Amino acid sequence: MDRSFVKENKVQRHDVWQENFNIDSDSATKQELDDSEIFTDDYFPFANRLELLLYVLRGSKYHCIDQELFKFILHIIRVVVEDNIKSIPPFHKIWNLDIEGLELKPSVSSNKDTDKDIFYIKPSSIIEMQLSKKNTAIQLQRFPRQSNFFEGQSSGSKWKTEIKSLMAKHSSSERIYIGDNVQNGTNGECGTVVQFFSQEFENTHQVYASVKSLTRNISVIANDLLKLDQTNVYEGDDVERVQNLIEMSKQLDMDIYTVPINIFVDDTSGNRSKKWNPLSVWTLQLAGLPTSEKMKKSSHHFIGVTKPEDGSFVTPVVNDLNDMFYEGKVMYDAAYNKNVIVTSQIAVGLMDNSMASEFCHHMGAAAKENCRFCRYRNNHLLIGELRTKNKTEEILKEIENSTETSTMTGIKKKILAE
Ligand SMILES: [Zn+2]
Repeated sequence: MDRSFVKENKVQRHDVWQENFNIDSDSATKQELDDSEIFTDDYFPFANRLELLLYVLRGSKYHCIDQELFKFILHIIRVVVEDNIKSIPPFHKIWNLDIEGLELKPSVSSNKDTDKDIFYIKPSSIIEMQLSKKNTAIQLQRFPRQSNFFEGQSSGSKWKTEIKSLMAKHSSSERIYIGDNVQNGTNGECGTVVQFFSQEFENTHQVYASVKSLTRNISVIANDLLKLDQTNVYEGDDVERVQNLIEMSKQLDMDIYTVPINIFVDDTSGNRSKKWNPLSVWTLQLAGLPTSEKMKKSSHHFIGVTKPEDGSFVTPVVNDLNDMFYEGKVMYDAAYNKNVIVTSQIAVGLMDNSMASEFCHHMGAAAKENCRFCRYRNNHLLIGELRTKNKTEEILKEIENSTETSTMTGIKKKILAE
């Protein structure tokens, strides 16, 4: 081989490498590196064994390497160099390591019908992990937003009506809960806190409270409220849950925040070939992140993947979320650098029409009553009798006990929705 070509080519290739992987940025300038002849030709066209191995790994058909894993491997190598680590721990030491309370094993749910275990990561564990990341925790919107234009999910109507924030704080760090009796510090009006929301005020977002007084409803910045020494009078249809969580917050002396999530479910194929090997993939994202953050791949968290016939994550995921919804969970919150109580619930289920039908025990477009919301037939010009959970369950029972097919009602038992 023409050595002059080798030399020239090597320098060019080296430049490209330096752009992306600046491991020894402060060591030597490009000119110095060229002169010092630190690269031998043994691994041409690679600079060294490391580059060669990384290249082999990237192209490997036997390892499942994606960009995220590859970046993490590069990060590990960077740590080795930066910390000047001289010994690599043996494989079995790391592979079998278990630290109490920090187990790396995923949660397991058993499917009673098929007697198979399905593996998933609990939504509560994902929320806990995310809340401990400062960058994520400080960006998280924790109150519904009152705004004249769309500012992401928290300014939507569902968040305002169905997702309650239970607590806000006075500037003196005193906690105010919904149902508390308060006095408006500015004009002395007394009332009960109905809900909290956030709204822009002088270029920052302030937490407001809707206060119901004897004569009218007013909105007051939470900071301006004086808490009256009276018992909490919250009365909603979830009074027991709310009172329990408030009591827990007082006893543990911890703040309480609502962190709703979006769940995404879709079909995918386990094969690269055209033969369809159906899998259902479940992922989660924190609903309170700004829209630009939600677009990032790093905001989507893997819950698990199942073969449709092996069952679904509905029961374990719903059970986990219900535990958080009713009882709350103590987590470290990096935005405030302390432990807080977190409750959660589903804000939106994101999926395509066929997957949404799946969750409604509806057979989809092939049915005569082909709408999953109502029972109108064929041309959907009017809204028919709305479907309800009870009615659907009733029809499911009828179908089980008779020879009637599902095409008429559109109701069909779907394993994913179990
Ligand atoms: Zn309809």
